[in-house]
Amino acid sequence: MREGSLEAPKRHPIPWQDEAWLDPEAIDAELRRVFDICHGCRRCFNLCDSFPRLFDLIDASKTGELDAVDSADFKPVAEACTLCDMCFMTKCPYVPPHAFDLDFPHLMLRARAAEAHNLGMLDRRLAATDAMGALGTLAAPLANWVLKRGNAATRPILEKIVGFDREAELPRYESHRFTISARTDAPEVNHAAPAAGRKVVLFATCWVNNNDAAIGHAALGVLARNGIKAEVLHPGCCGMPLLEQGRLADVAEAAKRAADAFAPWIEKGYDVVAPIPSCGLMLKFEWPLVLPEHAGVKKLAAATFDICEYVVDIARKEGLAPGLSPLPGGVAVHMACHARAQNMGQKAAEMLRLIPGADIGVVERCSGHGGSWGFRHENFPVAMKVGRPAARALQGAGKPVATSECPLAAMHLGQAMQRQAGDAPVPEVVSHPIILMARAYGVEV
Ligand code: SF4
Ligand code: SF4
Repeated sequence: MREGSLEAPKRHPIPWQDEAWLDPEAIDAELRRVFDICHGCRRCFNLCDSFPRLFDLIDASKTGELDAVDSADFKPVAEACTLCDMCFMTKCPYVPPHAFDLDFPHLMLRARAAEAHNLGMLDRRLAATDAMGALGTLAAPLANWVLKRGNAATRPILEKIVGFDREAELPRYESHRFTISARTDAPEVNHAAPAAGRKVVLFATCWVNNNDAAIGHAALGVLARNGIKAEVLHPGCCGMPLLEQGRLADVAEAAKRAADAFAPWIEKGYDVVAPIPSCGLMLKFEWPLVLPEHAGVKKLAAATFDICEYVVDIARKEGLAPGLSPLPGGVAVHMACHARAQNMGQKAAEMLRLIPGADIGVVERCSGHGGSWGFRHENFPVAMKVGRPAARALQGAGKPVATSECPLAAMHLGQAMQRQAGDAPVPEVVSHPIILMARAYGVEV
C-alpha cells in the first residue's frame, strides 16, 4: 500500500538515448530539484541509506539548506541506492502523475549511468552473471571453497582484489546448471489436475541456473502437480546487475535477446514464469521502460508472471490440485522489494496460505542486500544495518521456518538473524516460498 496519494504511480520511459540523459549539468540540476523536494519532505528517512546520507549532508552544511552542499558530495547518495524502488512505490506522494514528477530511483540510475563509463573491467565482469555463472558451475567445489565465509585463506584476498567483504555470506554455485538438470530430473505430470491445459515456459534466470537449482525444480514440481509440463529457457541474464551499474545500452541488448527467444513460445500461447522477483521486475516493468517501442518486449511483459503470482492465479481460476499437507509451526515470509514493486500484492503469502492450516507471518521491510551491492566491503555494514529490522521481525515471528521471495534477501537475512541471535536458535531459512509449496506437495527438491 502506498502512502500519500490515491493514484497508482506511473513511470515514464527511461530516456537513455537522449543527449541530455548523460549531460552533467542537466543531471546536477535534476538532482538539486529532487533533493530539495526530499529535504522538505523527509518521509523516506528510514527506508535505506541514501536518504540519511542526503539529509546528513544538508543538515551539516553551513546554511542547513541544499544550496550550501557541493554537488561533488552527492555521489555517496546515489551509491547507497540499491534500486529497491520502495520510495517510489510505497512512500512518495510526488511520483508521476503528480506535477513534481519525482522518480528518485530512476534519478539515481541516471546518476549511475553518468558514472558508468568510469567502471573498471572487474566491475563489468562481476555484472556478467552468465559468464561468472558458467565459470562458477564449471568448478563448483573449488568456487564454493573459495567463496565460503570463514575461509581464512581466500576471503581476505577476495576482499582485497574483488571487493567482497570477508564477512558477507556469498552465493554458492551448483555443480549442474538448472537448464541441464531440468532435462534429466523432469517431474511426473498429473494430467488430471484442473489446470492441465496451461502452457508454461519457465525463465531459468541466472540465479536459479547457477546458484540455486532447487527453486527451479520446486517450480517445475508444483506446476507438474497442477498438470503443467513447463519448458525451461535461459536466453541470458535479465540485466538487473547491468541496470544497477547504469549500463542501459547493455540492458536493452539483454531485453531484445530475451524478447526474441520467448517470442515463438508466446505465439504458441505459453505463459512466461519468472521465479526470481528482480528478474520478473525487469521483464514486466523495466525492459518496457528501456525499450518502450519494442513490440516483442511489450508482448513479453504482458505474458510474464512471478511464480507465486502464477500459482495463486491457478488457485483462483481452476483451483489447485489436491495433495497439499500442512507445514507444521507455520512460516514467516519476507516480501521482497522487487516483488512489491511489481504491484501484484503479497503473492508469496497468498500462495502459502493455500496450504491447509497455514500459519503465515508477513514481513514487509527491505532486507538491505541490494544484489551484489550488499557484498561489497564498503556497503556490507550498511546492508546489515538496513536489514536488521526485517531480520528482527522474521525472528520475532516465532515460526520454525523463514523464507523470502528473493533468495539473496533470504541469504542476507539468514546471516543477519544469526548475528543478532548469538547462541539462540534461528529459524530454518528456505531460499524461496515455492520450495515450501513443493514441500507441502511432497515434491523432493
Ligand atoms: S530505491 Fe530503495 S534504496 Fe534507492 S533511494 Fe529508494 S528506497 Fe532507497
Ligand atoms: S522520495 Fe518522495 S517521499 Fe521520499 S523523501 Fe523524497 S519527496 Fe519525500
